[in-house]
Amino acid sequence: MSDHGHRDHNEPESGPALRVKAIESLLVEKGVVDAAALDAIVDHYENKVGPRIGARVVARAWVDPKFRRRLLKNAIPAIAELGIPSGPEGEYLTVVENTPEVHNLIVCTLCSCYPWPVLGLPPVWYKSFAYRSRAVSDPRGVLREFGVELDPRVEIRVWDSSAELRYMALPMRPAGTEKLSEDELAALVTRDAMIGTAVVKYPPAAVARAHAQD
Ligand code: FE
Repeated sequence: MSDHGHRDHNEPESGPALRVKAIESLLVEKGVVDAAALDAIVDHYENKVGPRIGARVVARAWVDPKFRRRLLKNAIPAIAELGIPSGPEGEYLTVVENTPEVHNLIVCTLCSCYPWPVLGLPPVWYKSFAYRSRAVSDPRGVLREFGVELDPRVEIRVWDSSAELRYMALPMRPAGTEKLSEDELAALVTRDAMIGTAVVKYPPAAVARAHAQD
């Protein structure tokens, strides 16, 4: 493990990251760009574009068992079938399947390795020391903090990502979704469900709350 192969785990931050920050600060200071606009762009890639691609992969796997088998066996050619390019940062993607017996949790203990092509940019908490350390030492506690209470009989498998190995969890399809279309299924799949810090809910939590208030 002397050479984990991470390109981005240098702490303090690498030269390029510092240069980007310096340039960003300067552009904001000079009024060339708006910090809020930059935040909106990052949010777009973190929460919208990126994870929506992974959600398409998950929905296809739920409706097509043969695709699911190909995906679990060799993820890169399988996602290529959906027109999703693998690189950069996705050359060695592996998809691990959640089942009633096994729940998978993705982490990068050294830094922030993450399957960009299917999930976009990693969330801030994914890069935090607290998550990186506790996902390994106390995965059940971490899941509880994310609101996921697993049956004690469910085995939790923690997958440590690196530059050479990127993981995505294939969440379980929730009950009651038999009649939903593939697009409707994809809309249920959250980024965190593909990291393993959430399970896919049906109806989605927001809808469930709205009904609870009726
Ligand atoms: Fe890493």
